[in-house]
Amino acid sequence: MYKSDQRRDSNISRRGFLRLGLGAATSSLLSNSPPLLAHSGESDEQSSGGFGSVIRGVATNARRICLTMDDLWSEYYTLQICREFHRRDIRLTLFPIGHAVNNNLVRPTAGHKNLYPRLRDMGHEFGCHLYTHRVIKDFSLEQLIHEEMEPALRVMRQALGADFTPVGIRPPYGHVTDAVKELSRQYHTPLILWGLDSQDAICTHRKDVHNCDCPESTEKAANSQMVSQAAQAEVCDKDRCAKACIEEILHSYETYLRPGSIILHHALKATLLAAPAIADLLDDWNMQAIPLTELLAYSSAAGA
Ligand SMILES: [Zn+2]
Repeated sequence: MYKSDQRRDSNISRRGFLRLGLGAATSSLLSNSPPLLAHSGESDEQSSGGFGSVIRGVATNARRICLTMDDLWSEYYTLQICREFHRRDIRLTLFPIGHAVNNNLVRPTAGHKNLYPRLRDMGHEFGCHLYTHRVIKDFSLEQLIHEEMEPALRVMRQALGADFTPVGIRPPYGHVTDAVKELSRQYHTPLILWGLDSQDAICTHRKDVHNCDCPESTEKAANSQMVSQAAQAEVCDKDRCAKACIEEILHSYETYLRPGSIILHHALKATLLAAPAIADLLDDWNMQAIPLTELLAYSSAAGA
C-alpha cells in the first residue's frame, strides 16, 4: 500500500487532527505507519548504507527529520525561505544547482550578494545537485565528473571556501544509475534522495498550467535573475497560484511524515508561503528539523 492508497486512507486534515486533540497521539499513529523508506516511488532500491547506496531517510525512532531544498534558481525565494525557517529554528540542507551558484557569483540580484555564505551563517548546510540539471540517465562516469560534479564543486568552493565539501550528492530528478553510484563512491559522498516529496514543484506547475489564472509569464519572471524585489512583490496577484498549493503541501506532510524523513522542497513561492504552517505542524508533532549530517548520525546504518 503506497502513495495513492495512503492518500485515500488519510483524509484527516490538520485542522481536524488538532480539533480532535490527536496531536499528542501522533507518535502511536506514526509507529503504526508503513515503513519510511517505502513511499518515494522513484526506485525500488533500498539503502544498505555507505557510498553508492541510495538514502531516502533514516530508520530511527528519534523525532528528527531533515528538510531539503533543491535547485535554488530564485535567489529571492531561496533567501526568504531560508530566513523564514531560520526564524523558526529550522536548519535546512540545500542542494543548489551549480549554475545557480555561478549566477550568484557573477551577477547576483540586488540584495543577494554573497548569498551562499549568508545561508551557511544561518546554520543551513549544502549538498551538490550537479551543475546543469540535465537528464543524466545516459551519462558516463567521466561525463558526470567533468561536466557536472567538478564544475559544481568549483563554483561551490568559490562561493563557500576552498575547503567546502558537499554533505551529499542529489542527482537531478532523482535519477540513480551505476555511474551515479560510482560518482558517490569516488567522491566519498552519500547519495541523498528523499522519502517525502512536499509536492511544491508539482503543485506549482499544475496550478500554473491548468488551474490558476496567474499569468504564466509573470510567474516565470519571479524566478528570473532580472526582476527586482519590488516587481517580485507584484508578481501573481494575491499569490493565488501558490496559496492554492499550501493545503497540498501540508497534506503531504500529514500523510507521509515519519521520524527520520528526508523531505524534498524547492525554492518556490509555494514553499515560502507554506513555511510558517510547516513549522507549526512540526512543532505540533514534536518533530525537530535538523541538517542532513545530524540526521544521518541518528542511524548507525544510515538509510538502512
Ligand atoms: Zn532539481
